Amino acid sequence: MGFISYRQKTKLDVLLQKLSYMSRSQRSIVKKGYHLAEDAHKFQQRLSGEPYVIHPLNVALILADFRLDYEAVCAGLLHDVLEDTEIQESYLRSEFGENIANLVKSVTNISVLKNRSKKKRAADNIRKLILASVRDPRVILVKLADKLHNMRTLKYQPEHKAKRIAIEALDIYAPLAGRLGIYKIKWELEDICLSFLYPRIYKLLKQKVSEKKSIRDNRIKALSSILSEKMKGEKIKATIEGRSKHFYSIYQKMKSKGRTFDEIYDLSGFRILVESKSDCYKALGVVHTLWRPLPGRFKDYIAVPKSNGYQSLHTTVIGNDGNFIEIQIRTTEMHFVSKYGIAAHWSYKTSHEELLKHFHLFDHIAALNENNNALEFMQELKESLSDDEVYVFTPKGEIMTLPSGSTILDLAFRIHTELGLHCAGAKIGSRLVSFRTQLKNGDQIEIITNKEITPSERWIEFLKTSQARSKLRSWLRKENKKKIIHKQSSEKTGNIVRLPGNLAILCEAAGDKNISEYQIADCCRPLPGVDIAGYRTRQAKVLIHSRTCSHFLALMKNNGGEEQLISLKWASSLGPFMATLEISGEDRPLLLLDMIRIITLSGAHILESSVVIKNIQIEAFYKLEVDSIDILNNIGDTLEKLSGVFSIERSCEPGFFESFSL
Ligand code: MN
Repeated sequence: MGFISYRQKTKLDVLLQKLSYMSRSQRSIVKKGYHLAEDAHKFQQRLSGEPYVIHPLNVALILADFRLDYEAVCAGLLHDVLEDTEIQESYLRSEFGENIANLVKSVTNISVLKNRSKKKRAADNIRKLILASVRDPRVILVKLADKLHNMRTLKYQPEHKAKRIAIEALDIYAPLAGRLGIYKIKWELEDICLSFLYPRIYKLLKQKVSEKKSIRDNRIKALSSILSEKMKGEKIKATIEGRSKHFYSIYQKMKSKGRTFDEIYDLSGFRILVESKSDCYKALGVVHTLWRPLPGRFKDYIAVPKSNGYQSLHTTVIGNDGNFIEIQIRTTEMHFVSKYGIAAHWSYKTSHEELLKHFHLFDHIAALNENNNALEFMQELKESLSDDEVYVFTPKGEIMTLPSGSTILDLAFRIHTELGLHCAGAKIGSRLVSFRTQLKNGDQIEIITNKEITPSERWIEFLKTSQARSKLRSWLRKENKKKIIHKQSSEKTGNIVRLPGNLAILCEAAGDKNISEYQIADCCRPLPGVDIAGYRTRQAKVLIHSRTCSHFLALMKNNGGEEQLISLKWASSLGPFMATLEISGEDRPLLLLDMIRIITLSGAHILESSVVIKNIQIEAFYKLEVDSIDILNNIGDTLEKLSGVFSIERSCEPGFFESFSL
């Protein structure tokens, strides 16, 4: 006992030492936070067997490395007390003030959604995280620090759980950190994930890197001595450092470019740190006089920073021995920002508004339609998190940044929906191009529209961004509805309301003339077999929700919500209906074949399928026609037992159930 508390004390001392940038009174509030956390968690342990307080303490240490303010560090210490202990929010408020209490509450809120499938929960959590971060960006920093420490201690989780957590971290949290410019966290997360997902590759890389270390160090020493001498001659104060790639990026480059370890690793990398922006360009001049630059490899992220705020000059030159050398040139301040991203801005005391301007991510995601389903949302999020982007200019010289691979049509939809819907092509300089043309860095683009033009289904192929796709889809849906509305009216027999797609519900209120439409709610799109309920909207529509849908539950909590409740249940289907399955699993040999065998042997027809394989995860999507709900249940149950399958989501075919008049 004495031993453990001795060790904790030491760690608290380490924390307090790191906080030398704070005032004495701020440090004492942090200390108070620590003691509360220690006391509140005193009966809890981490999976490692250590006292629980080790976790919040480490989270605070990470935040202290980022030089965050005392409120954030304190929130790091207290981030788990509301969820896991008896401590009440009101107590935090009175003892630590509004700001700290609000931070802790926002971080807690992110993980307490129950009752939903894993994927929806993940999507909702991330959405909440981002919305909360618009109000206070420190929320995302505390959450990332929390994630990082949990990942550092991932080995205490059972293996299958550890793998799932690693996949989520690699999919969401690492890119999120990257998008916020916090490369320090991104890289550590990625390496931890690699070690869990591909332990053999990780070990191999580690071994190879250590074998080659001394050769590499010598080469870098030789090159940097040539360089520093020249710099001195030009009177540029510069620090030159070798730059090692982290394991995951070596692995990714080997995989994506089909290169061997030696080819990737032999590329020497340097970083030149100077004092001012103009010195960056002077240093570039020196480098290019010493060695010939490789054409097409120069990038000026100082003049045009990445949308996460990253600034640097990048160039690749051909060394005297014929080997390529990658060089980054930046100021020390830019370098600090490149490691700590949004957090660096925080410690530079940039105002909130100024800060958020750097990170369009927030307004982009905050503006995402609430009704987007989980898959669309995650897709959109992953796109917005992608580091790989292309920037173009509007005729007014405004910079627009889109995921690379985006087309003119994507750009048109990004600027304005109307522009997208009537896009005829574009002018790049004096050239006329079709709207399918992919954007290239630095193009200045003027969208040309024509009111006569209206979109067709085929346009979807030309769109890369899911934002544009969903705008287009919703337009197409509305158009289709106009056409269908007259043909397809529901038939009422007794209490049965017939829905499109051979589905039907039983509803007491079926005869109610005041109800204009029945519609499957877009947020949960329940399938037969799921418990459902209706909610009467102000427009006299009845939206059919799953009973566990969080939107529905929220509606029921509202004042008068209960009065809008209409009880319904599924009638047996009137014939074949369509369903979608989203299956995520581990990319193991034959998994896809097994899935298809199970589905077709059960008698369902696959109408459409698509598969995305990323890292080691498979995301398969099937659109099926099934004759009965029993068949669908059977398929679901069998797939769930398949080895390597993580989760299955079932829903109605999106867009299939349009609302219709009675
Ligand atoms: Mn935690």
